[in-house]
Amino acid sequence: MEIFTIERLDSMVYGYINRIIPFSSVDGPGNRTSIFFQECNFNCIYCHNPETINTCVNCGKCIEVCKTGAIKNILGEIVWDYSKCCNCDSCIKICKNNSSPKIKKFTPQNLMNEIEKYKNFIQGITVSGGECTIQEEFIIELFKIARNNGLTCFIDSNGFKDFKEMTELLSLTDKVMLDVKSWDKAIHKEFIGEDNTNVLKNLKYLASMDKLYEVRTVVVPDMFKNEDTVYNVSKFIGESNLNIRYKLIKFRAMGVREEIKDMKSPSDEYMNKLKEIAYKNGCEDVVIV
Ligand code: SF4
Ligand code: SF4
Repeated sequence: MEIFTIERLDSMVYGYINRIIPFSSVDGPGNRTSIFFQECNFNCIYCHNPETINTCVNCGKCIEVCKTGAIKNILGEIVWDYSKCCNCDSCIKICKNNSSPKIKKFTPQNLMNEIEKYKNFIQGITVSGGECTIQEEFIIELFKIARNNGLTCFIDSNGFKDFKEMTELLSLTDKVMLDVKSWDKAIHKEFIGEDNTNVLKNLKYLASMDKLYEVRTVVVPDMFKNEDTVYNVSKFIGESNLNIRYKLIKFRAMGVREEIKDMKSPSDEYMNKLKEIAYKNGCEDVVIV
């Protein structure tokens, strides 16, 4: 098995990848390979993959709990040998940094070589995270290669970075799936950790460029003003006269942090009530997952 170490890579642009799902039918149209990038600029209270939030600080704590010797410190940098890993995730549980040692470091061409294995069975690729646009430079190079290979390129983004300023990336992108976590600014700041000004700007900008495929809202009872967010997002979609899907995602306490692991999921009745609000606002394609 090949191990991706610093020495074996020769490009100046690297991507730090948490996980690759070879075949996904929920990350854009058709069958797609989904690539989850490490690092996020938000810190959502309900994050289902908190180990994707930060980059590793090479503290070495996870080496001590790895029973298979899959984690090593090479020249001060944590390196993961996936051929030795049994996926017990003890390393992720011990990490106090919301990080993971199980990161692969790719050049764009290395990553395309990996995608190549699935190429005959997919329509395209979707980059996700974490927040993939943090690694904008890498994605630009990856998308150039993927497009040359006949694949469509989608982005799943939290909308924190201004797409208006990412012109080259957007020109190489077929469509974007955007999270609108809260319409209310104060709530966004409190539970997501950052302001939502750019998110709402991106919602309008991406729609104006016909680059918006889907908007997503995670429904978290009590904590978030779900009805307000659904009302405003669906009103915007309805008035845009564009074919934009609105996906309402039920909060589930899977993989979340200790402090909210007992929080309940919203009921089906409540989700349907939100769906009704969206329909009444002219949003025709509403999906509950
Ligand atoms: S993954 Fe976490 S525990 Fe392991 S070295 Fe990095 S920061 Fe430390
Ligand atoms: S999941 Fe982590 S702790 Fe478990 S074997 Fe793999 S690298 Fe080691």
